[in-house]
Amino acid sequence: MKTGPTLLAIPAASYSFFRAAVALSLVLALGGFSLHAAEAPKASPAAAPRPIFKAGFAERDITPDLGMEEPGGYGKVYHRAFHDPCKVRAAVFDDGRQRVALVGIDLLFITRALTKETRAEIEKRCGIPAGSILIGASHSHSSGPIGMIEPGELDQASPLVQDLYFNKSTVSNPGYIQLLRRQIVEAVVAADANRVEAKAAMGFGHEDQVAFNRRLRMKNGLSYSHPGAGNPDIIGYAGPVDPQVGVIGVWDLRNNLLGVVVNFSCHATTSPGGISANWPGAMEQTLRGATHQPALPVVFLQGACGDITQVDNLTKFQNPAPEEWWQIVGGRIGAEAYKTLLLIRRGANSDLPVNVRSRIWNIPRRRPTPEKVDRALEIVQAGVRDNATEWTFAKETLLLDAMLKARPEVEVEVQAIQVGPVVLVSNPAEYFVQYGLDIKKGSKFPFTFPVELANGSTGYVPTEEAFGPNGGGYETRLTSYSNLELSAGRQFAETGIELANQMTPGPIPQPPPAPPFRAPWLYGNQPPELK
Ligand SMILES: [Zn+2]
Repeated sequence: MKTGPTLLAIPAASYSFFRAAVALSLVLALGGFSLHAAEAPKASPAAAPRPIFKAGFAERDITPDLGMEEPGGYGKVYHRAFHDPCKVRAAVFDDGRQRVALVGIDLLFITRALTKETRAEIEKRCGIPAGSILIGASHSHSSGPIGMIEPGELDQASPLVQDLYFNKSTVSNPGYIQLLRRQIVEAVVAADANRVEAKAAMGFGHEDQVAFNRRLRMKNGLSYSHPGAGNPDIIGYAGPVDPQVGVIGVWDLRNNLLGVVVNFSCHATTSPGGISANWPGAMEQTLRGATHQPALPVVFLQGACGDITQVDNLTKFQNPAPEEWWQIVGGRIGAEAYKTLLLIRRGANSDLPVNVRSRIWNIPRRRPTPEKVDRALEIVQAGVRDNATEWTFAKETLLLDAMLKARPEVEVEVQAIQVGPVVLVSNPAEYFVQYGLDIKKGSKFPFTFPVELANGSTGYVPTEEAFGPNGGGYETRLTSYSNLELSAGRQFAETGIELANQMTPGPIPQPPPAPPFRAPWLYGNQPPELK
């Protein structure tokens, strides 16, 4: 798919001012950065043995029960059927000096509190440092119940606001959160215990038929999210896509495939009907079928897909039925990952340095005006009449107003994890794809995988362009879910690039070189033989 205009329209002068302002606000917010390089490599004398690369994979089931809430919207929906299991899948990489864990979870998002609790428990159980663990949600819209309120955030709120949250919004199920906590820890501890000497290779596949930018430029000068196929007021896509399918394949020393890590940018909204891992489940099925390994671990880490879904607003054709759509998106990405594995496996090797950098700071939330809050209260108190959408967003304004009183700033973490020549650069946003492309461009690593919705959840983080005069749409609405200040996306990108570039990419695994030339093939070095 051709991409739209690039969304980097910040004049150089204001850009450098912005950088300075960000740096200052970060320092003020924290009194300095929290920066760690956990399990820092010890100085290795020249005679030290070559480090041994090890890898382990494991998965655990986190399928919710029927009747539990199905999060993904601003109201309450309940699971009524089962389609395919939801799982947490973990990979642990170890270069003999330090270990990192990549955890992909079939969940709409993961809260900061749950991230911290599970990381602490993992560190206690198997010694992988908390800061070296990346937990990324797949953004499955057909997964288990998780609510976005962090502990204590609404404790002081009015009875009205508490009612709006607990009875009119998606909330966590305490039993299910217990299950998540247990299974995330168990998956990582098992992956760590499964470590064996291994080799790995990496590559990019290309898939441009299943994911589309859902924001479209309209004739009135604004950008709408999902204006609808056939809408005569559409001018074109308002932003790009990222067709790269990032793949890491890991084999033991006898060439048995141990597991795969896949990174791609597309909302997991091909809900096939019922509880489901969403299209990453179909992707896993495809990879397992192609490799004849019915239990192959496939760790999926969602790319920057804040504005990317399977829906093409410029299509001329009817959309597929839900089940078929699940297969098309997951199947094509899985097939592309398999093609990539076939291409790279001969080059797999064990010379893969592992490393990590991260930074934690606070970003202020945007504030609704007092007039907007007053008006929202009127709308909510009047009850839902003809305009349920207006009521829902009024409810969101009141929730945000209450959250601002408890926690006007949000703790965010950007993490860069290196596996050889790959760097995974994560942040907690539903992140616009342009920023993912920016991170790929700014990183000096040959393989950069942006990972969104990782180690916390801060809602949609659009580009500054999307907040400008030609912006707008769904993702720029101010809600209790999406409310970071306008520069948040750029802060994430710049920090991610900076952290990635503090590390040195490992060599790209390649097949053995061709033997030196000796002589041409004697059957094939003759002029045409006409008689
Ligand atoms: Zn989303």
